[in-house]
Amino acid sequence: MFETDLTDVEQSAFTGGLPGEERLEALVAGALRRYADLDEGQVADYIPVLAAADPRWFGVALVAVDGSTYAAGEVARTFSIQSISKAFVFALVCEAIGHEDVHEQVGVNNTGLPFNSVMAVELNRGSPMNSMVNAGALATTALMPGATPAEQWENIRTGLSRFAGRALELDGAVYHSEILTNQRNKAIARLLESYGRFDMDPLDAVDIYTRQCSLAVNATDLAVMGATLADGGVNPRTGEQVVSAEVARDTLALLASCGLYERSGEWLFEIGLPAKSGVSGGIVAVSPGKGGLATFSPRLDTAGNSVRGQRACAYLSRALGLNLFASAAHPAARTTKENR
Ligand code: GLU
Repeated sequence: MFETDLTDVEQSAFTGGLPGEERLEALVAGALRRYADLDEGQVADYIPVLAAADPRWFGVALVAVDGSTYAAGEVARTFSIQSISKAFVFALVCEAIGHEDVHEQVGVNNTGLPFNSVMAVELNRGSPMNSMVNAGALATTALMPGATPAEQWENIRTGLSRFAGRALELDGAVYHSEILTNQRNKAIARLLESYGRFDMDPLDAVDIYTRQCSLAVNATDLAVMGATLADGGVNPRTGEQVVSAEVARDTLALLASCGLYERSGEWLFEIGLPAKSGVSGGIVAVSPGKGGLATFSPRLDTAGNSVRGQRACAYLSRALGLNLFASAAHPAARTTKENR
């Protein structure tokens, strides 16, 4: 799946900051060029309207924690945020109810199964498991503060807009296409209800969840949203503290283990960054203290992750030294060995 031969790309360790403007611009443009002709993967069609996406669309955007933006390709084209919304709704709910409650009521462990698995709920005796799979996302959305479903939805819309730094709007065509065809999500919600997991009407939770997945964003929005999680919860463009630094940290921990569906382990092994992907072709990866990286390209692998997006992120993670697990020996340690 991943390109193992990145030997032409210098590997740096996760230290210091990002390189200068010119190098960032060149690398982001290079990531786009490098994978623009890759035509592996299929556009999602289980939500009928998504099948209309042009498989050639491709955009890469990076927003640093100082607010500077580097972009190449179709970074202004809007698409529905889909599962990437789960990361930011988790952050808002975690902010509202706290680390302990979200841990206890939803969970933070990977299921190892597809995002819409019914079996995962059964195997785990009704636990929604984590907020990045559909069962956990439905349970998380239900925990969003608000006196009515309409108020909960508005709190989600405005909350995600604060992450993006602009007012995000619902894509009505996507919402209608999905709400008519998401029997599986409705079944998951009813199953969770049978385990006593809902304090609200489960179908209202499905409706809000479908709306949150239908918010229209572009790659630059996703990069700003990621940069907010990279920046202690402060949106680097607006300066607003959207969630606390602790919530940003907790969100990234969850994304590291559960953000790329059942391929999260492979992603972390190759790229070494917390991230979230969605079936419309978006990926947002976060480099804590450095910035947010977003890609958009609708061709997906069989788990639901954008093929070109994964490659572009692997390339940039390596070239920019973003892998969280890379280290370089301290010069003093080297000297010690030499003097032995
Ligand atoms: N709204 C989509 C669903 O529930 C989101 C899927 C995804 O992006 O993983 O099926």
